[in-house]
Amino acid sequence: MPYSYDDQNIFAKILRNEIPCNKVLETEHTLAFADIAPKAPHHVLVIPKGAYVNHDHFASQASDAEIADFTRSIGRICAQLGVNPGEGGNGYRLIANAGNDGVQEVPHFHMHILAGRNIGPMVLMRD
Ligand code: AMP
Repeated sequence: MPYSYDDQNIFAKILRNEIPCNKVLETEHTLAFADIAPKAPHHVLVIPKGAYVNHDHFASQASDAEIADFTRSIGRICAQLGVNPGEGGNGYRLIANAGNDGVQEVPHFHMHILAGRNIGPMVLMRD
């Protein structure tokens, strides 16, 4: 089933400068900004500027340039935050929620970067 992108989602409005964000990094294809309800001392959202709903949409439809830019932007932000283990940092967690089971709230693909404390168990166990 082809994806249909809702251009009224909150991140689309941030990309159009209709609502503000606390910008962390901007490149040709990528924007990163602070999460409005941080779950860790560092909580950054990284989004492609293109209209992609989730990771599988992005992975299948985005250009190589967009994908490389997105991936390298995440690396740059982690380096800026000083959390890269390869550079002596304490680490981080990347999360990309998708669809109902992934409990995705905003239907524009985004990667969460969480860092600044031990992030805890990977998932909340139920039953
Ligand atoms: P997800 O559940 O993966 O879709 O996460 C959506 C994230 O967007 C949540 O962590 C929200 O706190 C965050 N969020 C929602 N509105 C804004 C906003 N205007 N600026 C920054 N972050 C936001």
